[in-house]
Amino acid sequence: MISGNKWRKLKLNLQQARFKGQQSLLTMGGAHSNHILATAEAARIFGFKSIGIIRGMAAKLENPTLSAAAKAGMRIEIVPKSDFDFYQTWEGKDALKASFGNCYFIPQGGANYYGVQGCQEIIGELPFMPDRIFLATATGTTLQGLTLAAKGETRLTAISVLKGDDLIRPKMEADFLSLLGDRETVEDLMSTVEILSDFHHGGYAKTSIKLISFMQRFHNETGIKLDPVYTAKAAYAMFELAKKAALSKSEKWVFMHTGGLQGIAAMEDQLGYEIYPDC
Ligand SMILES: *Cc1c(COP(=O)(O)O)cnc(C)c1O
Repeated sequence: MISGNKWRKLKLNLQQARFKGQQSLLTMGGAHSNHILATAEAARIFGFKSIGIIRGMAAKLENPTLSAAAKAGMRIEIVPKSDFDFYQTWEGKDALKASFGNCYFIPQGGANYYGVQGCQEIIGELPFMPDRIFLATATGTTLQGLTLAAKGETRLTAISVLKGDDLIRPKMEADFLSLLGDRETVEDLMSTVEILSDFHHGGYAKTSIKLISFMQRFHNETGIKLDPVYTAKAAYAMFELAKKAALSKSEKWVFMHTGGLQGIAAMEDQLGYEIYPDC
């Protein structure tokens, strides 16, 4: 499954890999990473080999994400957290290239320039320009793309799925400043961005009873499944805000479903029951 925003972040990276004549994609991620599976599937479909470096020795090859990635042909290398952190440094990347040969490197979460550029396309595909867009955020790559493409014409409300992560805004400000070269332009753009940090429900890949029952109610009423790690937290936040806000009828809110449904199985394993039992 190449889920949601992960395809947006991969598309131009795959194009680059092809331009460079690379045959293998090398990327990194957690044991249940949507990005890992999306990269494995995209590599299979577009004829690349793929290697996935997986964080932490507790990762199990048999888990739903890694087994699907392996089935798509990805070579999976589970490494200790300390090695994983090292591989995220420049020196570490050189070490990776030395051990795996000449590969096209895609950072964790597809968080690079081509990832941001791919996400910019989303705005152009909207049938109208909403007053406000809600989305889940982790690396902030999708949010950066939307912000650049919207050019201040819509408010972006990003729900951080990580606990205590205050790094997205400063990173965006720094990246935008080097891109746009003007502090006032960056401040104008960033004034349309709001990052909510109180809806993580315990932290990354953690959940709460409230969140699970919200997912079930949402599915009953709309027929749409949310994933527990990202989209459920963002939709939950949007409904909480809607309860509090005096919504004017003419205000248009858009919720961006960024995908991630393959992560439901891992959460169900952890919970010991099915989140959506009737489907
Ligand atoms: C990866 C992911 C996100 C976060 O995207 P970023 O660009 O890293 O902020 C949001 N939703 C889903 C379903 C994801 O898989």
